[in-house]
Amino acid sequence: MTIELPNLPYAKDALAPVISADTLDFHHGKHHNAYVTNLNNLIAGSDLAGVGLDDIVKKTAGDEKSKGIFNNAAQVWNHTFYWNSMKPGGGGQPTGKVSELINRDFGSYENFVNELKNVGVKQFGSGWAWVVLENDKLKITSTGNADSPIVHNQTPLLTVDVWEHAYYLDYQNRRPDYLGAFVEKLINWDFANQNLG
Ligand code: MN
Repeated sequence: MTIELPNLPYAKDALAPVISADTLDFHHGKHHNAYVTNLNNLIAGSDLAGVGLDDIVKKTAGDEKSKGIFNNAAQVWNHTFYWNSMKPGGGGQPTGKVSELINRDFGSYENFVNELKNVGVKQFGSGWAWVVLENDKLKITSTGNADSPIVHNQTPLLTVDVWEHAYYLDYQNRRPDYLGAFVEKLINWDFANQNLG
């Protein structure tokens, strides 16, 4: 069994103009695809060949000699989660159970949005901003490079990629504008609710 690149859950131009077809072409077709290829090359013939992606990420986390495998596997996992965190015509007011949790743990949707944008802007260098459930509490966190909440006893509900390759073609250095547009026009609240289980 090899790890495969999943298709995008929408057409390449479906998120435009918030995220252009060009960005998705490079980001999914080149970056995400390269992590898949690298991972398959790294695990070929090893004990991890045939192991599922989640387990590869969890088994190699924190192991210095498996760092290359962890980085590529976690990036494959994180990107698939990111594609599903967005949908055409998404964003804006949350729905369902996650809406209740936002009000309970952040006081208001406005506070939640400010915190998500703030954490995304402050992640220095490459990484990810996340909405996670930890000990039954909704939290906003960030991780550097390939790191992922699935190895920190957290349940991720949503993520936004803040590596420059996620936004540079469309927003150049304006990460705050990209994060604002993600929140207002792309968040897939149905996916967040599904992840609450
Ligand atoms: Mn990326």
